[in-house]
Amino acid sequence: MFSSTNTLKGMVLKNLFCLMSLFVFHNVSAVTALPVTEVTSGIYVHFGNHELPDKVNHGAIANIGFIVGDSCVAVIDTGGNPEQGYSLKRAIELKTQKPVCYVINTHVHPDHIYGNIAFKQPGVKFIGHKNLPRAMAARGDYYIEKAADQLDIKLTSKHIILPDKTVKKHMTIDLGGRVLVLTAHPTAHTDNDLTVLDRKTNTLWMSDLLFIDHLPVIDGSLKGWLSELKRMEKNKYKLVIPGHGALVTDWPQSLQAEKNYLQILLSEIREMIKNGQFIEEAIKNVGYSEQHKWKLFDQFHKRNVTTAFAELEWED
Ligand SMILES: [Zn+2]
Repeated sequence: MFSSTNTLKGMVLKNLFCLMSLFVFHNVSAVTALPVTEVTSGIYVHFGNHELPDKVNHGAIANIGFIVGDSCVAVIDTGGNPEQGYSLKRAIELKTQKPVCYVINTHVHPDHIYGNIAFKQPGVKFIGHKNLPRAMAARGDYYIEKAADQLDIKLTSKHIILPDKTVKKHMTIDLGGRVLVLTAHPTAHTDNDLTVLDRKTNTLWMSDLLFIDHLPVIDGSLKGWLSELKRMEKNKYKLVIPGHGALVTDWPQSLQAEKNYLQILLSEIREMIKNGQFIEEAIKNVGYSEQHKWKLFDQFHKRNVTTAFAELEWED
């Protein structure tokens, strides 16, 4: 009696689980839509919170979203976990009947690409920087391992979705009456940063080349990043969408905080190297005038100094 009740319970639970997984993983309409804001005609952004990726937010912290053309939709970054990807997909369905034709991954970081699986279907082309496949291949296994430990999400190699098309310098894609210009940048935030310019509204989706309030994180080249910013600040954009932080409507003014922080790292570290000081001293002394200007300073600043010191140590 006891065991048959348990068997029955087990069967009910098993069926319930099958039914739930059917809804969660295959029926997007059962998924809660991600909140998105239409920042200008046809451009929708989900603004993330300034948090470290952890087991509570499961890595869903970045700004992600989509652009709607007359014939189809381009997704720009897919989120920090598969579930967020499905929620973004649901948000798109609620805003437009048009199909997704492109998924643009702005760079390799997990908070931007872990939702890719939600969009993997015929007719959808994934696009990334020419260095993105290499970065995904190099980091994929490590990321999968870390996802379980740090984000409490289960990923396998099938979640690391490589681009179908890569961008060497520029690429234009047409969503129907709406041309997007994709630019592959030299090494800056990472070695695989891609930005998206919507010509129709002169909006630049800058992703992690721009951090607002959240301390900029260097995973590429301090010098490279600064020189890209100096080049880009001469351009005029009506709107700029950062990878973390609020929408920018006063370009290039809102860029200055990030530029200053990076510039301070550059000059103070160069000075220390010139004086024969070591990395440990740099970590203790460089950049602390910026401490109270940024969220997550304590979490990322020392790492930035370490990365930058290693880069600058060998310059002429
Ligand atoms: Zn990033």
